[in-house]
Amino acid sequence: MTLNVAVVGSGPAGFYTADALLKAEDPQVAVDVIDRLPTPWGLVRLGVAPDHENIKAVSRAFEKTAARSGFRFFGNVEVGSTVSHEELLAIYDAVVYTVGAQTDRRLGVPGEDLPGSWPATAFVAWYNGHPDFQGLDFDLDCERVVVIGNGNVAIDCARMLALTEAELAPTDTIDEAADAIAASPVREILMLGRRGPVQAAFTPPELKERGELAGAEPVVASADLELDAASRAELEADRERAHRNFDLLHEYAAREPAGKPRKIILRFLVSPVAILGEERVEAVEIVRNELVVEGGRIVARPTGETETIPCGLVLRSVGYQGVALPGVPFDERRGVIPNSGGRVDGAERTYAAGWIKRGPSGVIGTNKKDATETVELLLADARDGKLARVDSTQSLEALLAAKGAAYVEYAGWQAIDAVERAAGEPRGRPRVKLAAWDELLRAGRPN
Ligand code: NAP
Repeated sequence: MTLNVAVVGSGPAGFYTADALLKAEDPQVAVDVIDRLPTPWGLVRLGVAPDHENIKAVSRAFEKTAARSGFRFFGNVEVGSTVSHEELLAIYDAVVYTVGAQTDRRLGVPGEDLPGSWPATAFVAWYNGHPDFQGLDFDLDCERVVVIGNGNVAIDCARMLALTEAELAPTDTIDEAADAIAASPVREILMLGRRGPVQAAFTPPELKERGELAGAEPVVASADLELDAASRAELEADRERAHRNFDLLHEYAAREPAGKPRKIILRFLVSPVAILGEERVEAVEIVRNELVVEGGRIVARPTGETETIPCGLVLRSVGYQGVALPGVPFDERRGVIPNSGGRVDGAERTYAAGWIKRGPSGVIGTNKKDATETVELLLADARDGKLARVDSTQSLEALLAAKGAAYVEYAGWQAIDAVERAAGEPRGRPRVKLAAWDELLRAGRPN
């Protein structure tokens, strides 16, 4: 008998999970992938920077998964509102949550919610055409932007703000964002890392790109590259990321100014203590940190030496954060579904993979191994008879029809994809995204 599994979330973790399930032989599996959006691919469509078309190409592998027999897509279906976890358990033998991390981590400093202070996650969703983030008032009419955080999302945001009109033109950035970035008078994009250059979370290829932009140049102060003993030891131990980053930073610090219109300045060992302004963001107050070893980890400790940096926009890029799903266990502190290798603790026939399983870390490919681990446990449970066979007369499509809920099938996504690609073609762009809910649903539900 075929096992019926629902995979909730159609980003990389969802597609790697679906792929591993659909390839299984004992038992054979049919997979319904459910997403609250009418479009699949999650952060590959709506998170990966538009100028990283090569990274987005992973969606071709996901298309192959979608072409396998036993695969179905249900877009525009939100678990928690359209259908409940209990309803899914009544229809499917097992449910796998691959919903990612839906919101941002908070900084916890005064002024964080002033107009002009945004989570980087919202900025990313906006320029990528996420339908929940359109029409936001990202006012780029300022000379200095401060990006808080030293991860790849911070790097992406800083680079996007620095792209020229010609660099933006061949990408699928939404028009509103591309126009605002090209027209912005911004001259300085300042990235603030709370720890040192050795501890930066960004990766060498992303840092290298920073030195290759047409209209912006990287600026690093040599003094920021002086290392304490613990950081020197950490640098020696990490020949890959930290060492290559450090070499690049040295190269940037040694460069003569090229006079490009925008500068991306990297500063280290500073933390925001407050975001200042009357009606909206006017400045960020930062404190200088020193590094200390605590519990075997190098952490930042404030020195008390502060500085105020005027700016017009703040992007807080200190990590994503998982969100609880109604009826599904949740670890508030870690922002994940509590699980053991992907089996959800304290919930029957329920599994997790990707960021909602392990937290928001790693690159797209990391989710393949992660999903495989979960699927192996799920299949073992099925073989052990732990997944109670459910009443096969029930179906998701019947439940959705009874609720009057309009869903988008995979063919509907293919229709959206075709419309977007056709709109991009004459403009030399991979696609022009449909970014409004009504446009997406119109294109995705042709009948
Ligand atoms: P991340 O890699 O975890 O980086 C978060 C950054 O925020 C770290 O530098 C962290 O510093 C800093 N931070 C945390 N709390 C802070 C605070 N209170 N004050 C100041 N700084 C703080 O997260 P991310 O950039 O959101 O990226 C998420 C994942 O997606 C990562 O695995 C990333 O590599 C991946 N990603 C990859 C790409 C790509 O491959 N091109 C692009 C985008 C994202 P500490 O280290 O001191 O905690």
